[in-house]
Amino acid sequence: MTSPSPVTPLVFVTGGVVSSLGKGIAAASLAAILEARGLKVTMMKLDPYINVDPGTMSPFQHGEVYVTDDGAETDLDLGHYERFINVRLSGANSITTGKIYESVIRKERRGDYLGATVQVIPHITDEIKRRVDEATAGFDVALVEVGGTVGDIESLPFLEAIRQLRTDRGADKAMFMHLTLVPFIAAAGELKTKPTQHSVKELRSIGIQPDVLLCRSEQPLPDGERRKIASFTNVPEKAVISAVDLDNIHKIPMWLHAQGLDQIVVERLALGGKAAPMADLSEWQAVVDAVEHPIDEVTIAVVGKYVDHKDAYKSVGEALKHGGIRQRTRVNLKWIESQDIEREGAEAALGKVDGILVPGGFGDRGFEGKVLVAKHAREHGIPYFGICYGMQAAVVDMARHVAGLAGANSTENDKQSPHPVIGLITEWRTQTGEIEKRDERSDLGGTMRLGLQEQRLKPGTRAREIYGKDVVGERHRHRYEFNNRYRTQLEDAGLVISAKSMDDLLVEMIELPDHPWFIACQAHPEFLSTPRGGHPLFVGFVRAARERKANHGVAGGKLLKEASA
Ligand code: GLN
Repeated sequence: MTSPSPVTPLVFVTGGVVSSLGKGIAAASLAAILEARGLKVTMMKLDPYINVDPGTMSPFQHGEVYVTDDGAETDLDLGHYERFINVRLSGANSITTGKIYESVIRKERRGDYLGATVQVIPHITDEIKRRVDEATAGFDVALVEVGGTVGDIESLPFLEAIRQLRTDRGADKAMFMHLTLVPFIAAAGELKTKPTQHSVKELRSIGIQPDVLLCRSEQPLPDGERRKIASFTNVPEKAVISAVDLDNIHKIPMWLHAQGLDQIVVERLALGGKAAPMADLSEWQAVVDAVEHPIDEVTIAVVGKYVDHKDAYKSVGEALKHGGIRQRTRVNLKWIESQDIEREGAEAALGKVDGILVPGGFGDRGFEGKVLVAKHAREHGIPYFGICYGMQAAVVDMARHVAGLAGANSTENDKQSPHPVIGLITEWRTQTGEIEKRDERSDLGGTMRLGLQEQRLKPGTRAREIYGKDVVGERHRHRYEFNNRYRTQLEDAGLVISAKSMDDLLVEMIELPDHPWFIACQAHPEFLSTPRGGHPLFVGFVRAARERKANHGVAGGKLLKEASA
């Protein structure tokens, strides 16, 4: 089989020894340096699990479900990729065993294989190769990360496919970078190279000889160990790169560049004609400077239901830090379990914070805690940023405690609520008669509204001022919507609808004008925040938290009073 020409040179990234070594961030950091050398770079993740996508996986198991413009629910590594390089990825950049088998089986049922016995090699591997070609076409270079750890049974078809891709393309069009662990054994007082040797041996047994080794370790790899690893693995000494634990992930591009990693790739893949001789890492340096020399710091409470597993809110945590980087402010995150608020009350947990963010979530566990948090922030003038479920909680609070709609709720939590201020479109559309056009975009059977959609901001609102434009696109991932039947009552209670969908039918953002900073949105702006750019809402929120801290809790403006009990 011949690949389409000209083919995009590929760097395959695999991991060995143990999982969670930061393969995604290491790969993204190399991509960032290559981009800083003027190359057009893209990235891709191949995940060996059998789920078609992680959309149905528990955040406890898998961390955040990331969402791309086209509405694909992907691995959170795509978030690292988009934060490190200037690309907008799509579902094509995230493939899983489930996706591959799904399409191969569909083809088999259609008769595309003309009676052949359908097998892992060549049919599954060909499908993987086709998708890699498709997602990487048109770029100067692409980094393709294989999820899991070498030695896992389920990664074998992917490893076989990348082995073949290297053979198909030729040595200067594909290379292998392998990330391993070099542990420090305290009892011996030594770094141990044996796991790396074994992991490379495992790779070689399936026909893959790494070109570069990235060795994760607590301290820089001494020359002796580097030499030892090189001689056991047949990797040139200068391509045994030390990937030391760093306190700030934004330093990694500089660290890898200092060891010449980008130059190894440029030479190996014959990119010299396209790549600038020097990498311009000044933007990354500026990010690191802002992180290392802050002029201010704030504490933000993030109140959610998966806080023990912080990867569940990966993009939210990163976006908050980015909001701080834009103004040289360190953002300390205080993760709070919303059920604790239900038990202990908001005051105890939120007394000393400068701002409160309630992120997305699903299901009724902890929702009442989120409503209490929104109420507390509203009544005490604490900057509040609600995202998706965090917006819905704020609407429920306003409905119950200001508009006097006792029992108001989202139908996600109470199907019998007398005031379903948040509900599925199908639940409230018949009353408004405004809906027919909605069907293709949102649910009829409980499916999600997913991906980038544009919204129009209302002139004169704080949201419009913060964004600085009339129309913005944000990524969505939710089923329930603000119920239009309650628009007037909630507006009369003081809620301002600051953005609506382009056809005017769905509420996208709300805010409280008589509050220092209370903004909530139905979409997920955290997915479009980058360390170099920041996102206007996160920047604005962190600024408001700084102001609150400067005034030491003296809330500006008039606060909305609680309606009669
Ligand atoms: N559970 C809510 C919904 O489905 C909010 C989803 C979210 O926060 N991502 O609408």
